[in-house]
Amino acid sequence: QTIEVASSSHPYTITVGKQLRLSPYKYLPDDFPRKKNRLLILADETVASYYLEEVCAAYAEKLPVHTYVLPAGEEIKSFSGYEEVLNACVQAGLDRKSAVIALGGGVIGDLAGFVAATYMRGISLVQMPTTLLAHDSSIGGKTGINHPEGKNMIGAFHQPEAVIYDIGMLDTLPEKEWLCGFGEMIKHGYIADQQLLGQLKRMHKGSVLSISDELLASSIAVKKDIVHEDEQEQGIRAHLNFGHTLAHALEQTAGYGVLTHGEAVVNGIVFALYVGRRLGYVGPDPAEEQRWLQTFGYSFAPLQQMEPAKMLQAMKRDKKNRGGNIRYVVLADAQQPIIVTLDDEQLLTYMDAFKK
Ligand code: NAD
Ligand code: ZN
Repeated sequence: QTIEVASSSHPYTITVGKQLRLSPYKYLPDDFPRKKNRLLILADETVASYYLEEVCAAYAEKLPVHTYVLPAGEEIKSFSGYEEVLNACVQAGLDRKSAVIALGGGVIGDLAGFVAATYMRGISLVQMPTTLLAHDSSIGGKTGINHPEGKNMIGAFHQPEAVIYDIGMLDTLPEKEWLCGFGEMIKHGYIADQQLLGQLKRMHKGSVLSISDELLASSIAVKKDIVHEDEQEQGIRAHLNFGHTLAHALEQTAGYGVLTHGEAVVNGIVFALYVGRRLGYVGPDPAEEQRWLQTFGYSFAPLQQMEPAKMLQAMKRDKKNRGGNIRYVVLADAQQPIIVTLDDEQLLTYMDAFKK
């Protein structure tokens, strides 16, 4: 499955399939080996232990390759992680003709992407996603690191040269991580693709662990279409925030790492469906959707136990809501996302009522 992307900086392709990691040049622009002088592959320890050797060998067929391995986990998406990787770039002798290869999930993708965006004012980037969630994070050109005061506060838009998505690598992904990425697929179904949602609804817990490249490509296409229409996030890109306003608040108050992002998102989706209904829209029924989502093992305890006042405070701290009322994405009807503005009283009332 190949998806063409016409980004504002340059066109590129997203290829989804099995065993792509063993012949990466096939999925890169033809002149890539000629135009580049060296590569730096970044991976975390876990991914490196499974795949770094073979990926490195595949790239080494045509270009000099350096590798750099980081500890696994969100902590490396930090100032110190960023500095460490920049030092690795200098050590490897990268210049403006070099490329960074991000082999990993969203953490490596965001960090490697931000390095590629800023090292020598920007060099080439190739995304090789290894998690299900990365079908979301590797598309759209957002890169960045966290600030102690908030996630993804420092970053840049930087489009990759190609996205090479070898879903064979998902075989080693732990179940918990599958459910994380699955949350975003569900979101893409709700906001834009009825057929995708229909297919997801026919899945059961076991089958989540073996998603087809067609389904993944549909989910990628949703993100790609929205992002392409609104690269700089002026308008409809905000629809991707469906379920995320509350999700971010739940994550923040739980302390990062306690609640997985996917779990927070499905909680947020159910509440967003509820808010839509309260506003008089006719989108999917929150109770019914929650029952369906529970069959995958998602817990809705975070939503049942949330403290409305705390949630509101956290939403107001979110960089997307600085100042004034909260902008909320709801469904006016199936696959019809709209942005509404809610004042504090309304939100508090809805949260209290939902818990009862
Ligand atoms: P991650 O990169 O930390 O990967 C999750 C875990 O799975 C890690 O422990 C990793 O070592 C392991 N892993 C990865 N691939 C594996 C494989 N194939 N086999 C076995 N283990 C594997 O996390 P993630 O969930 O992929 O991404 C989360 C990050 O993505 C967050 O920092 C988030 O902010 C970011 N994100 C960015 C965007 C964007 O648009 N840039 C969008 C959504 C999320
Ligand atoms: Zn998300």
